[in-house]
Amino acid sequence: MSEEEKEKERQEAITARAEAAAEEAKEETESTTPSTPSTPISPTSPPTTETPSGSAEPSPASTPTPTGRQLEDEEKSGQDLSLERELFAYLEGNKDRMKAFSMHSQKYAQGKITAFMYYYMIGKTFGDELVPIVLPLLLKALANDPKKQEALRCYHLYAIAKGCGRCNKIVYFPEEVRFADKSWHRWCFKCMECNITLDLKSATSRGKKIWCIKHVPKE
Ligand SMILES: [Zn+2]
Ligand SMILES: [Zn+2]
Repeated sequence: MSEEEKEKERQEAITARAEAAAEEAKEETESTTPSTPSTPISPTSPPTTETPSGSAEPSPASTPTPTGRQLEDEEKSGQDLSLERELFAYLEGNKDRMKAFSMHSQKYAQGKITAFMYYYMIGKTFGDELVPIVLPLLLKALANDPKKQEALRCYHLYAIAKGCGRCNKIVYFPEEVRFADKSWHRWCFKCMECNITLDLKSATSRGKKIWCIKHVPKE
């Protein structure tokens, strides 16, 4: 089997697992909260602008963010807490984001949003660079819910495997165009030559590159 085939098989396995996990999380959501349909979050309205609708404080079980005190306690036990420290330093200066984010965490812990929506919110709230730091902390916080933990882990692998065909960054589900066996950001789905924005009808591909009809290289 060639390297390329192996890679394809690996990605397909990840996709299948992520889809199964997302499906499972969705079913769980539907069965536990029939009156609260989950609505997709628009990329144009980032979670940071969301205003809290309730006054309930996050319960310790569903709050992934460590407090300074927790960090001190855990550090005494000799654990490596560099990730926690990095995130904590970031959050110290971004309290609003943190507030919006702990609300999303609660929604996910309560089964009101799916793994993929939650993952999308992580990315939009913290930026792609912080996702690898935030994620292990969230997985840790979900220790008493292995099913949600697994769904989130799978979705992460799925998203990472689907780097954008143009910019290579994470493609979140609401931003995704699927074409030529690859994922593309909607805004990256452009002709490699003239940069005109393409759609599924006007796009043509050779291998893993895309062009408009006018500029696609002759075979
Ligand atoms: Zn892109
Ligand atoms: Zn073109």
